[in-house]
Amino acid sequence: MRIVIRGGRVVDPVNGLDGLMDVLIEDGVIRSVDLGGNAGKPRRSAPPGGGPEETDRVIEAKGLVVCPGLIDMHVHLREPGREDAETIASGTAAAARGGFTGVACMPNTEPPNDSASVTEFILEEAAKHGAARVYPIGAISKGRKGQELAEIGELVAAGCVGISDDGSPVSSAGLMRRAMEYATMFDIPVIPHCEELSLSQGGVMHEGLVSTQIGLQGIPGIAEAVEVTRDILLAEFTGARLHLCHLSAAESVRALREAKVRGVKVTAEVTPHHLALTEDAVRGFNTNTKMNPPLRAAEDQAALREALADGTIDCIATDHAPHTLAEKEQEYDYAPFGVTGLETCLGVVLTELYHGKVLTLAQIVERMSVAPARILGLKGKGTLAPGTEADVTLLNPEREWVAEAKAMASRSKNSPFLGWKLKGAPVMTIVGGKVVWEA
Ligand SMILES: [Zn+2]
Ligand SMILES: [Zn+2]
Repeated sequence: MRIVIRGGRVVDPVNGLDGLMDVLIEDGVIRSVDLGGNAGKPRRSAPPGGGPEETDRVIEAKGLVVCPGLIDMHVHLREPGREDAETIASGTAAAARGGFTGVACMPNTEPPNDSASVTEFILEEAAKHGAARVYPIGAISKGRKGQELAEIGELVAAGCVGISDDGSPVSSAGLMRRAMEYATMFDIPVIPHCEELSLSQGGVMHEGLVSTQIGLQGIPGIAEAVEVTRDILLAEFTGARLHLCHLSAAESVRALREAKVRGVKVTAEVTPHHLALTEDAVRGFNTNTKMNPPLRAAEDQAALREALADGTIDCIATDHAPHTLAEKEQEYDYAPFGVTGLETCLGVVLTELYHGKVLTLAQIVERMSVAPARILGLKGKGTLAPGTEADVTLLNPEREWVAEAKAMASRSKNSPFLGWKLKGAPVMTIVGGKVVWEA
């Protein structure tokens, strides 16, 4: 099997490439990335056993960007347990539609991914029905209850690439310390959802001007930053690799920035919704603006954008959190936290950050492919280096489209971006040399 992607703008920051080139894929592997001219033609020498080997498919990529497959390191696939909201099949189909070749899935399933048997189930389902690669993240604590450590060694042996109790914080600093000590033995990141519950409990949106005006209970930015600061201190003390989930508050950004200057092994992600929206979006009481951490103030948004641009925040992750329509149709106070993100992420990022002149295309590829691969320790990912598995995303930075529920592959449609006019879209997703989705 031989595929040529011809004449696209190859953006591959790891290999220092940004220019018009051809990408040749053979038998699922990147064979060459070069100025081309030859790749689309049959080979001159006859392969063993017969006539000249024809190229099976030539993809004309003029006007398109060709980059290493995008990786979303924070999604909720809901299976096992909540297949009415999402399955591994539907969630990875949504990933492929969004231009993602791989996703890391959080352990807050039912049962939670706190044992090898659940990890193995996820990987088997992904191998059978997954459109994109799936990298499971195991639980920090048994049952995600925050009391006893999960069998971290067993989880890693089964294929987990990191540990998190996401959906819930690890409130005990002592337990978090021990989790970090274990994680260093396996060189995996600890990926906390930072939330000090005594500060956040009862809140449904950001605590600020808007929450006061519309009469909803607020969650202050420091509910996040207090635990971010604690976990940075614990990471500094234990030497663990800390990766902070869905950073939302300016106070957290400040703590992260200072920690990086001190040389703490800390990385962080930010979601498209925290980059594109503020607390103002909650005024209409649309429950698709309810997530945890909440949409924050304009000053927080500005701090997040600045930190993403200067590399203090390492990557963009969606926190794709599917919920059924019935769940989200409740009153704002009662609706569950969470929004979907896989199918709108690239469009929102290109519209707001590329066309909005916050990030260059190379920086976007860095933050959506290279950095997540590096943080999760995914060898051969985030690169188009010859010899690596051909996970490739094609995107059109100029294509205009409208985000519509009916076009989404996810079982849930709880996106805050429905109806948004976006500029920039994924065009094709290739996983291991196989086209898994094309526009
Ligand atoms: Zn979370
Ligand atoms: Zn999450």
